[in-house]
Amino acid sequence: MIPQGLRLGVLGSPLAHSKSPQIQNAGLKFLGIDGDYVKYEIVPDEFDRKIRSLLCCVDGLNVTIPYKEKILKYLNRVDPLVERIGAANTLVIKDGQIHGYNTDYYGFMESLRGVDLQDQVVSIIGAGGAARAVVIALEDLKVSKINVYVRNPEKADGNLPYLKKTDLEVKLLSETSDLSDSALIINSTPLGQGRLQSSMPLEHHQIRRLQKNAVVYDLIYSKTMLLEEAEQVGLRTIDGSQMLVLQAAKSLTHWTGRELSPELIAAMSLAH
Ligand code: NAP
Repeated sequence: MIPQGLRLGVLGSPLAHSKSPQIQNAGLKFLGIDGDYVKYEIVPDEFDRKIRSLLCCVDGLNVTIPYKEKILKYLNRVDPLVERIGAANTLVIKDGQIHGYNTDYYGFMESLRGVDLQDQVVSIIGAGGAARAVVIALEDLKVSKINVYVRNPEKADGNLPYLKKTDLEVKLLSETSDLSDSALIINSTPLGQGRLQSSMPLEHHQIRRLQKNAVVYDLIYSKTMLLEEAEQVGLRTIDGSQMLVLQAAKSLTHWTGRELSPELIAAMSLAH
């Protein structure tokens, strides 16, 4: 039987731990929209062979690791933010046309509401797909400088988007890196998640040296050791769960045309 409702899903690999189906299906239910959101896992070796047949038979997709950049060549039109960031995480597919959006930007921005970063120094650890959206958002928040700490500076240089207005410096991450100039420190590595749950991107002494009013933000969706240690020394922390729900809610509005209301965000948040 042909499904009648909206056919949505998340494309990535691996997807075993993805919470997107439960969050998005709760959003669809709240809005009273007939549809289903499922996982579409395609392993990298099979991506180019399988992607077209998937794009043919769905109304919308979220795109996650490792395809946010690779998907761009399959899109007919991209939002200006996708061009700046160089990655898309939301596809709207209608009348054979595929449009790309980036809602990670929105989720990150909104999760920092109330944190004034204008003219402040910000440090990001890691320079993968998530860092690209974060860097563009920080430029729009008018920070004075962005330090990007990585284990492989050459690779990071090639992966980060070009900034017109903000100074960005890539630095080697080491035990002696001093982040005490930063008002906001963001972990965008997987250190602290899954099999790396007991790892931290910074050493204890580096966390203790941070500014007293610094905010420590971990893009990982749960309370990580980094956040626990930061809280122990009295720092304000933010975990990735708000960003996760906010980017998901924004994607849902692209597919449904419905308003991004606080009630929708609350319903999706409860499901996560
Ligand atoms: P990614 O593209 O794989 O990038 C990961 C970055 O971390 C790369 O710069 C990588 O360096 C670095 N890294 C990996 N292992 C490391 C290690 N052992 N030591 C130092 N650096 C290491 O991943 P991503 O898409 O940017 O995602 C990063 C994190 O953000 C993940 O935990 C993801 O779940 C989370 N995330 C959260 C949200 C949200 O909504 N809250 C959204 C997107 C992502 P190399 O390039 O040298 O490997």
